[in-house]
Amino acid sequence: MPRHLARLLLLLCLLAPPLPGAAAPPVPLIDAPVIVLDQGEVEMLRDPSRDLSLEQVRAALAQGDFRPLIGNLGEGYVPDALWLHLTLFREPGQPSRWWLEVMPPYLDRIDLYHLEPPGQVDHRRAGDSLPQTAKEENYRGALFKLDLSPGRQELYLRLRTSSTLAAVLKLWQPAAFADQARASYLVYGAYFSLIFTVLLFNGVNWLVTRRPVFLAYSGYLASNGLQWLAITGLLGEYLLPTAPQLANLALGLSLSLAAAMAYVFYAMVLELKRFHPYLYRITQAGVLISLATAVATPFGYYQAFAPWLLLTGVAALGLMPWPIQRLWRSGDLWARLLALAYLSYGMLVATNILGALGALPFSDWISHVGMASNLFHLLLLHFALLLHLRHVEADHAMALETAALARQEAEVAKAAGEEQARLLAMISHEIRTPIAVIDAATQSLELLDPSPPPNRGERYDRIRRAVNRIAVLVDLVVARVRTDVAQWHLAPGAVEPAALTTAALELLGEPQARRVTLDLQPDLAALDGDARMLRFALLNLLDNACKYSPDGSPVRVEVRAAADAGRPGIAWRVRDLGPGIPPGMEERIFEKYLRVSEASGKAGLGLGLYLARHIVERHGGWLRLRQRPGPGACFVCWLPQGVPAAEGAP
Ligand code: ADP
Repeated sequence: MPRHLARLLLLLCLLAPPLPGAAAPPVPLIDAPVIVLDQGEVEMLRDPSRDLSLEQVRAALAQGDFRPLIGNLGEGYVPDALWLHLTLFREPGQPSRWWLEVMPPYLDRIDLYHLEPPGQVDHRRAGDSLPQTAKEENYRGALFKLDLSPGRQELYLRLRTSSTLAAVLKLWQPAAFADQARASYLVYGAYFSLIFTVLLFNGVNWLVTRRPVFLAYSGYLASNGLQWLAITGLLGEYLLPTAPQLANLALGLSLSLAAAMAYVFYAMVLELKRFHPYLYRITQAGVLISLATAVATPFGYYQAFAPWLLLTGVAALGLMPWPIQRLWRSGDLWARLLALAYLSYGMLVATNILGALGALPFSDWISHVGMASNLFHLLLLHFALLLHLRHVEADHAMALETAALARQEAEVAKAAGEEQARLLAMISHEIRTPIAVIDAATQSLELLDPSPPPNRGERYDRIRRAVNRIAVLVDLVVARVRTDVAQWHLAPGAVEPAALTTAALELLGEPQARRVTLDLQPDLAALDGDARMLRFALLNLLDNACKYSPDGSPVRVEVRAAADAGRPGIAWRVRDLGPGIPPGMEERIFEKYLRVSEASGKAGLGLGLYLARHIVERHGGWLRLRQRPGPGACFVCWLPQGVPAAEGAP
């Protein structure tokens, strides 16, 4: 049945079978090195019962039940016996010794009945069920040595096989046969040496790299190599000369395993699971059928399973265009070579399979294309791998270069940053001296001015505030340069929450401070901390609230005693009516250098919140954004009471 399916597949059903009844003419034995019997000289009769005798078959021939065989025999996987008949005619003076070769070598049993002119029957046997020693000639295939007297010679051949029922018949002159046999052994020797070498190479590759793809390819080459050793009869001739049944079994087993390994290997190299999941499922089905065939073979069911195994193979190969197109489109030379390797492999193997199924005319050529397919992927695949390796190496070199460049750039940036920090530290140090001078001079002036008019006193005050703010700004500049808060030196002491808040507001200065409404709980207890640092953190929150909300809009600051997880402390809540922080950015705004797009247009470095949070955390507290309905942002800063601030590294 599968054979017919395969025929349908190729629409070969259009080919009508030859008409029965026409008797084939005798084959004249001319003086040629070889006579190929594929021009209709042979007639055939199928014997589904498998028990027709020679007499019954001769009677069937007389009744015209035989039909001419056009081309070679290729009946697919059928359990029937098959009879062939041919007549030879030898003129006196023409060569008398002819060797009849019946290929392929995996035919199990071949019976030759040579009807000698005086009416005797010479019956001989060949086929791979015979031990090598029982063969007429120590040859991998089936050979009958004929010594023909002049006149008509009638030959009947009965064929049986547990594999595909196919046959190519040739009559050789002995010398010509010896020449072609030598040549074929040479070619096979070279072929199997190559397979063996590549198999070793991939085996070692697997041992070294432990990459499964090398193991799959080695497995494929080993089983496929064994399969072809069995198909060509070399396994029986050289490795198992006295165990023909074992050689026969090895054929079915190795073919099934080679199919399974081919599925696994190509699924890996073509990345079917990732790119073509449906094709991957077909390969999984293929592996299952292959393994089922392997299991069924020792029980004598190879012939029943093999057609399904081969049809699944044809179906999987029929879907080749998808992976091939993907590889080709990638534009990489290695991927294109891989595509070509797969294409040539697929086409040749499909041809071989269709020949075995009887859907394509059987021939020497078609029985060997499967072997040839290996040569293509052997070469192309390794070129592809080589190119891929070079590709990967180039990528690797490029990545190393990029990394080196990035390192270099980072070093330059770091050096520039350090230089800038040094410069700023120097400038701020230099600025502190004139600030101290101004401060001292203002105080002296105030002292020298015992009863200043009211507006002058206020002016002294403004000068002092301005000087103070400049001092904090200098601290801020230095702090922003040194963003590694863990390295800051803390000067702990008692900090009054009310004083801290008013000092920060004072530093905020006019007109911003006028926008702030302060809601301060009275009698708040002092906490331990570095007043200068905390003032800086609070000033940042106030500064942001004023900076990111519309000019003149109110900013509200609440200061309350608040416990956190049972620990007493003070909470500052700073609210504004600006655009607020977009959802999802609540934590990110505390990252170094992060600025929300709304901040564009406002001066800033994206460091204020980062530094403020670190200062608060070093005091054992926390600083968070609290999202709430309505406009604006609300930042909450909580500091514990009774926990001395950690001393910074000197
Ligand atoms: P800077 O203000 O220097 O940009 P910050 O670290 O203080 O850096 O703030 C980080 C970002 O958080 C700001 O760029 C701004 O986008 C956003 N942000 C901070 N406070 C507010 C606020 N009160 N309202 C709206 N956005 C704010």
